[in-house]
Amino acid sequence: MNWQKEVDVVVVGSGAGGMLSALVAAKNRADVLVVEKDKLWGGTSATSGGGIWIPGSDQAKALGFEDNLDDAFKYVRALSADNVPDENIRAYVENAAPMLRWVTANTGVIYTSQPYPDYHAENPGGSVTGYRTHLPEMFDGTLLGNDLKTQRLPSPAASLFGYLNWTFAETYQLLYRGSGWLTGLAKNMAKYWFDWPLRFTSRKDRRLTLGNALTGALRVALNEAGVPLWLATPMKELVTENGRVVGIVVEKDGKPFAIRTRKGVVLAAGGFDKNQQMRDANAPLYNKAWASGGVTSNTGDAIRAGQAVGAGTMNMQSAWAAPVFHVPGEDRGRLCTIERALPGCIMVNQKGQRYLNEAASYHIVGQQMARREKEFGDASPSWMVFDHKYRHQFPMGPLLPLVPDWLQSGAVKSILKKGRTIGELARAMGVDPAALELQIARFNAGAAKGEDPEFHRGDAAYDRMYGDYRHQPNPCLRPLTEGPFYAMPIYPGDIGTNGGLRTNAKAQVVDDAGQPIAGLYAVGNNAASAMGESYPGAGVTIGPAMTFGYVAARDLTGAN
Ligand code: FAD
Repeated sequence: MNWQKEVDVVVVGSGAGGMLSALVAAKNRADVLVVEKDKLWGGTSATSGGGIWIPGSDQAKALGFEDNLDDAFKYVRALSADNVPDENIRAYVENAAPMLRWVTANTGVIYTSQPYPDYHAENPGGSVTGYRTHLPEMFDGTLLGNDLKTQRLPSPAASLFGYLNWTFAETYQLLYRGSGWLTGLAKNMAKYWFDWPLRFTSRKDRRLTLGNALTGALRVALNEAGVPLWLATPMKELVTENGRVVGIVVEKDGKPFAIRTRKGVVLAAGGFDKNQQMRDANAPLYNKAWASGGVTSNTGDAIRAGQAVGAGTMNMQSAWAAPVFHVPGEDRGRLCTIERALPGCIMVNQKGQRYLNEAASYHIVGQQMARREKEFGDASPSWMVFDHKYRHQFPMGPLLPLVPDWLQSGAVKSILKKGRTIGELARAMGVDPAALELQIARFNAGAAKGEDPEFHRGDAAYDRMYGDYRHQPNPCLRPLTEGPFYAMPIYPGDIGTNGGLRTNAKAQVVDDAGQPIAGLYAVGNNAASAMGESYPGAGVTIGPAMTFGYVAARDLTGAN
């Protein structure tokens, strides 16, 4: 091999897991290079909420929440898949808080613990009060200098108009139009539009929040540590010598470029979110690449490269399932998180029937939608149906309250259905009017009493968290009474795949017999998740991506 560069560690992919492992390795005195396939950095992590699920954190303790790691282990163990080794779950639970402590000490990202219940809070070891989910505080994008312009924009599902960043607290202020919401919004809009240096050259908002704040702070720390990040440099293959990974070949300026590694390679190149062929072959239940919220550059390259050098894979049939809206022209599905739990809406299949608890976690709802579609062929799309009062009060995906129908974009108008009566709406949706009328009458009878005898919406702590706290007796239920009525198609999608290369508790990639492949590590959606096919709580994708990034970097630099 004609090596053109030599470093200690190469990290493939610039999501949160990749950037953190690069930083930890660099701080442990390794010479590190990050290669990124896309011309933008940050991956799906930059477009995300940036939430991380960390049991036993210092931040939670400071708020009086004493966690117990055995409880956290028991909780995840029972939800995860049988083929996920105990050691991997233990490694996550035990290293998560030290990882966050390290991040707090070595980067500008500030995480706060949130009263956000686990997704299965009532299970043994679950937390009803929350405090395992942590969210990043706002971060000043000015510190990124020119790198701000090449950071991925937030997801259209996690920003206003696809460019205006907001914090979790601001989301709630806008949602309920609490006191000062209009001034707050006007101030943020003004900051954005009067930011002249950027307004003439970029769509980016300098106030970095959520996943933009997390990845922005990590990138600043990488820059300060002198770690280069090469954009538009896809890894093409792994190079081995005597069974050990000793480097990679990337494409640089359209030509192959070989990089030798003295210590190892960390694969952090995401899942096979946008690879239709890999989905068809491995994950037929989640078979719509277009409905994934993952970034278009996540096409499973590094999973295939790992397989080519003998790595095993696990749970390739799985994804972080989610109900998504799809606005024609957009390159991804828009995650639907809050809307389903708010009062005044229901989800129905193409027969006009409800078939699930709308307010359950997006993963459970996404899984149920996908399974329903597979069995009955009537759930893709399903429909979010809502009444005039809901339309006036709350958003529904891309449809914003207070913005009249005629002012919506052509793409949104093309998917929005409307009727003066339920029957008229049903005809616009192509659903049997009598069936939808019957369904709504049945739902309304229970909702008026705050009850959902069929699907128990609003019973669980998680359901109620996203419900309208002002609405009693059940914050998730209100009869749909006032016309006009509306419907928006919603699809079984995901926010990324989560099966991938088999790894051990040190994040080393292993073969089918469990033997480590020397010099090779995998983290994030590039690796099979320790969560199996479950989603225990908000932040269980980025939390493990960062934790195993930390573990991998410490292992390959001998810090453990
Ligand atoms: P990514 O962040 O996608 O990074 C992978 C990078 O690798 C990409 O930049 C890609 O271009 C690059 N790459 C791919 N192939 C190559 C190659 N051949 N060579 C070099 N580079 C390559 N999860 C949470 O835990 N908490 C949340 O709050 C949360 N909110 C979300 C909100 C939304 C709207 C969405 C869509 C997702 C959310 N998720 C959340 C899910 C989470 O964002 C992803 O699961 C996670 O970011 C994946 O991280 P990763 O490091 O594996 O991949």
